[in-house]
Amino acid sequence: MQRDEQIFDLIQDERERQTDGIELIASENFVSDQVMEAAGSVLTNKYAEGYPGKRYYGGCEVVDEVEKIAIDRAKTLFNAAYANVQPHSGSQANTAVYHACLKPGDKILGFDLSHGGHLTHGSPVNFSGKLYNPVFYGVKKDTGYIDYEMLSDVAEKEKPQLIIAGASAYSRDMDFAKFREVADNVGAVLLADISHPAGLIAKGILNDPMPHCHIVTTTTHKTLRGPRGGMIMMGENIDNPFGIRLKNGNLRKMSGLLDSGVFPGNQGGPLEHIIAAKAIAFGEALTDEFMHYMLQVKKNAEAMAKAFVAKDYHLISGGTDNHMMLIDLRNKNITGKDAEEALGKADITVNKNMVPFDTESPFVTSGIRVGTPAITTRGLKEDDMVYVVDLIDEVINNRDNESVLQGIAEKVNALMGDRPLFVA
Ligand code: PLP
Repeated sequence: MQRDEQIFDLIQDERERQTDGIELIASENFVSDQVMEAAGSVLTNKYAEGYPGKRYYGGCEVVDEVEKIAIDRAKTLFNAAYANVQPHSGSQANTAVYHACLKPGDKILGFDLSHGGHLTHGSPVNFSGKLYNPVFYGVKKDTGYIDYEMLSDVAEKEKPQLIIAGASAYSRDMDFAKFREVADNVGAVLLADISHPAGLIAKGILNDPMPHCHIVTTTTHKTLRGPRGGMIMMGENIDNPFGIRLKNGNLRKMSGLLDSGVFPGNQGGPLEHIIAAKAIAFGEALTDEFMHYMLQVKKNAEAMAKAFVAKDYHLISGGTDNHMMLIDLRNKNITGKDAEEALGKADITVNKNMVPFDTESPFVTSGIRVGTPAITTRGLKEDDMVYVVDLIDEVINNRDNESVLQGIAEKVNALMGDRPLFVA
């Protein structure tokens, strides 16, 4: 068969875009060669509905071993008693948890999307807001930190069946013990969605949800630096209370409910090539090198936040504890949409983002979200962060000047072009 040059040319264009630019999207990263190799391997050919040792297809001996290794490494990495590595994405991990714990119409309490939450935490445009009955907590207007009093008040008033602790655009650590206290007060299941800070949590740099939350979901492709995908976990000793009693009196454990929430509840055949890539990424995340990487991601975020503040950029909550920051651009008289567009012309990639109490629509927004996982993988350090902020500021100040933006793109390409995507 003829090689499909049309698509491979486009893949090459994308490789060049990724190589030459500064990637600041907080949810993106660059995987190692071995993760990429596994993701593009013959395992993509295999059907394996079911779980290791209990499949609905023959010929699963090899993928069983792969999936068991992925599960064991995930458990070691996060100190978990249970892991399901099959969710195709973070959204599907959350869908499976809702399937396992809720009936349609049940109430869920999530972080308001416009304050930093995720679509799957109850947004009206998502299944989570259509199938379930969502209520929200948010951040305090004066501090930008989560309003735990509001969380507690809304929980008391609404009595949700499930509370979600997690965010896509929150730059501070989370108090999972406090979330648990609130959940216990109203008898809710507590889910931590650590999709964004998973890598930092795995290395003990941020608070650990595992001892406090009944269930933990994550994506595998953000700070964790694996292939695109999702995962569900549970810690020790918090399994049985949330099982369901069967007619014969036996207890159906939460782990069984979660497994069937993924398959057959929500997915068919698992992506064993991606599960192999997850196993490799978890193995990488267990090393000391990954600890150095995560510490550098955090140091870079701190250096970048400081440089932004020095140039009078308004960071929500004033700074960051993790890998990202949310910037309110209203004092710079530019919308998130226009900033994203102008930065794109200078080969700097960010995403526009709602800020808490935003006055613009989600398509325009007043802010941008900026993160350091990807540029840290490319080998950039604290001094580079100051330079990157200088370049961003130059773009914002010259947003309509095409030749200045072109000149900045050349500086960006000179900084990035010679670096491999993944600096070992
Ligand atoms: N949960 C959170 C907190 C996220 O930030 C994201 C992705 O941005 C997801 C879930 C969904 O992940 P995916 O895009 O893999 O469906």
